[in-house]
Amino acid sequence: MKILVLNCGSSSIKYQFIDTEIAAPLAKGQVERIGMMSAVLTHQPAGKEKIRIVGEILDHKIAIEYVIAVLLSPNHGVIQDKNEIDAVGHRVVHGGETFSGSVLITENVMRALKENIELAPLHNPPNIKGIEAVTIQLPNTPQCGVFDTAFHAKMPPHAYLYGIPRELYKRYKIRRYGFHGTSHRFVSKRAAELMGKDITELKIITAHLGNGASIAAINGGISIDTSMGFTPLEGLLMGTRCGDMDPSVILYIMGKEGLSIGEANTLMNKHSGLIGVSGESSDMREIEEAKAANDKKASEAFNLFTYRIKKYIGAYSAALGGIDALVFTGGIGENSTLVRKDVCSNMDYLGLKLDETKNESPKGEADISTDDSKVRIFRIPTNEELVIALDTEEIVSKHLESLK
Ligand code: ADP
Repeated sequence: MKILVLNCGSSSIKYQFIDTEIAAPLAKGQVERIGMMSAVLTHQPAGKEKIRIVGEILDHKIAIEYVIAVLLSPNHGVIQDKNEIDAVGHRVVHGGETFSGSVLITENVMRALKENIELAPLHNPPNIKGIEAVTIQLPNTPQCGVFDTAFHAKMPPHAYLYGIPRELYKRYKIRRYGFHGTSHRFVSKRAAELMGKDITELKIITAHLGNGASIAAINGGISIDTSMGFTPLEGLLMGTRCGDMDPSVILYIMGKEGLSIGEANTLMNKHSGLIGVSGESSDMREIEEAKAANDKKASEAFNLFTYRIKKYIGAYSAALGGIDALVFTGGIGENSTLVRKDVCSNMDYLGLKLDETKNESPKGEADISTDDSKVRIFRIPTNEELVIALDTEEIVSKHLESLK
């Protein structure tokens, strides 16, 4: 099947047009600055030059119109007719407690998505706009929603409940949901395949380290705990997010600095993490450069980042009762030799030994543990778009079958 995979944000849409038969994109690109006079569409057909179009794209509907037009374009396109788009798969951030797997978009699903807006006020509305825009442009094309939260939906209550009055969980659905589920699912499955084992037999810890970062404990293919919580703010230190801290810290700062709820939210989400601690950058490459130049604050930010990952690995090994594989993915996990080395240092006690030479190996999937390491350590590039395309193909095929 040929599937258009969309990741719709508030002012941007990222897309890949994937042929599931070859498990690769025929074209990919993004629309940025939606809502502005000078919106930009960058489009790259596989194996060809990237093109850039600047124009007025006032909303998601027009953006989707542009994406379809460029896929059809005689010079830069990859299809001749809209009908060659067999289905559309959307990344949807928050499925709340309603969705524990990917779904075909129906009116009922749209209603449920709208009910979950309060849980992800920044992310779900543009996801919904994207679905509505596709419905207008491609009214007969089936669409699926693939949720960031779904993979974590089977966590047990002791992992998802917070220690607050239960009434608040019931009233406002305050609990751990976890995010990056599509990525944790993909890389844990790949790790099992690389080990030549059935995932149901394995205990795996997956570390998705990008601008946003989270870690998951996966027992027999099921996520039993993960570091992001009610929102993506909890857990690891991130590019601009603080991750774990004593909740009273923010109340204290709000009192001292007279911050509103919105300002406090911005402080924790946008001005904390690597950028907040280093005062330099939210970008790990720049943090590493500053650390190499003996910048003390950048070194401390780096150490805080890796130390917290180490702590979570310890915690999740305990939660899992042992560990068979550790997987690094995401922009930092896939590319930073230094982060992987630091995280894996002095972990022999867990049976986890990094091979420093293999750790230096260039891009791609690799087992980077020593031959005698009891725990396999992998670097596995994530591919959330492919997961969305494959889920969409499976769901749409079943749906079409049921219509026969
Ligand atoms: P997002 O969460 O926005 O998808 P990515 O997964 O693309 O983020 O990761 C972005 C992060 O990856 C940035 O902090 C960037 O510095 C880091 N990164 C990319 N390449 C390297 C590298 N070679 N060494 C260290 N960090 C890297």
